[in-house]
Amino acid sequence: MTASGEVSLPPTSDTIAAIATAPGTGAVGIVRVSGPQAHAVADAVFRPAAGGRALDAPTGRVLFGQVVALGDVVDDALLLSFRRPASYTGQDAVEIQTHGGPAVLRRVLELCLESGARAAGPGEFTLRAYLNGKLDLAQAESVLDLVNASSEAARRNAAGGLTGELSRRIGEVQSAVTAAYAEVQAGFDYPEEGVPEARLSEPLERALAGIDDLLATAEAGRLSREGARLALLGRPNVGKSSLLNALLGYQRSLVSEVPGTTRDYLEAPLVLGGVPLTLVDTAGIRVTSDALEASGVDLTRAVSDASDLRVLLLDRSQPLEDEDLALLRTFVEPSGGSGTVVVASKADLPPAWEAGALEEGLVAIAVSSVTGEGLDALRSALTDRLIGSAAGAELWVGNERHVQALRRARRSVEAARGASDELAALDLQDALGHLATITGREGVAEETLASIFARFCVGK
Ligand code: GDP
Repeated sequence: MTASGEVSLPPTSDTIAAIATAPGTGAVGIVRVSGPQAHAVADAVFRPAAGGRALDAPTGRVLFGQVVALGDVVDDALLLSFRRPASYTGQDAVEIQTHGGPAVLRRVLELCLESGARAAGPGEFTLRAYLNGKLDLAQAESVLDLVNASSEAARRNAAGGLTGELSRRIGEVQSAVTAAYAEVQAGFDYPEEGVPEARLSEPLERALAGIDDLLATAEAGRLSREGARLALLGRPNVGKSSLLNALLGYQRSLVSEVPGTTRDYLEAPLVLGGVPLTLVDTAGIRVTSDALEASGVDLTRAVSDASDLRVLLLDRSQPLEDEDLALLRTFVEPSGGSGTVVVASKADLPPAWEAGALEEGLVAIAVSSVTGEGLDALRSALTDRLIGSAAGAELWVGNERHVQALRRARRSVEAARGASDELAALDLQDALGHLATITGREGVAEETLASIFARFCVGK
């Protein structure tokens, strides 16, 4: 922030240094230096064992030696040399690898700062890479996503963004919009004829389809990054804890024949379809149909807050009770398109009711936690609800900024459909503007850049 309150980006022409490895002790730690003085800084703090100087090291050279301070050896070290533009940042850069102790790394960084480097702020290395054209903005953000990825799906999506797959797909949409724009422009030259409807609609439809394909993965992308909560609902003793254990594949909760013995919430992690899930056993929420009538709203809210998706268990070996029906009424929307999957539990026991006993059109998946019957069907029903059509997609767009820009671009393209040529031209320009903010090759506000890179860690 400047005194006037404007957000501004840090300078990029000086030399920056930071510890690039995670805080704490590790076998190896890295201090990273980038900028025109990078090799001069290395020369001041590093003594190659085989003689020579870091100052002269070419790209790709690895030197073994020692970090020294006033003749004292700080640690043995490896120095990696990169010459612009062949480095991550596109600038001259060095990486100094030492033992990963915090005191060692702090001392090496301190020496670099004493030798002319400035302490880097969050994301400054990647910002330089972006400004030097080494990465587009979507790729730079993917670096952040990759560092933060905690699930395999999130990692895969980030890697897809980093290799430029997202940028390529955005490029296809941009070409379609540009083609439509060219048609509108051509129409200006022959105003008496106007743009033939079909010539404009083909690229417009292509642009919309491209945007929709990407947006269809937005929810899956969000879930793969943030995870989802899956609540197990049902009256006591219907088999919630047993199902939780069966889904996990190990004993996580106490299973008891005495109703109400599983108290409060019990949570356990599980990955389904690439989405990290937290399974929540809601045995602590007791309902009677009276209580449900009285506090149905509160209960619904409590469970909805606790979950993105729900499994409602109905014990198939016992006659349905009022409480079962009350839960069905509360959590299963008549449309069938709800976030609740109904399970007929204890399917290995003789049934006391058939699936047809439930509301018409409502399918309950017969599951036995004892034999494992129906578990796969349940897993795929849940996966389907979680990620739907995104399951087969190569890339999920999980970055909220990208999703917003795609939605805005979609609205503009949509508006261009059926608009007069003058308005269509403006709408298509808007759409191109929104798409450009994703890859960010031009025209991204400093403020946006500053807020993106501020989310990085120092040293990245
Ligand atoms: P919760 O109160 O809903 O968590 O139910 P529990 O998982 O504690 O199960 C209650 C009782 O039903 C226990 O005696 C379980 O062994 C039994 N049970 C749970 N699932 C099954 C099942 O699939 N088949 C059979 N035969 N018994 C089950």
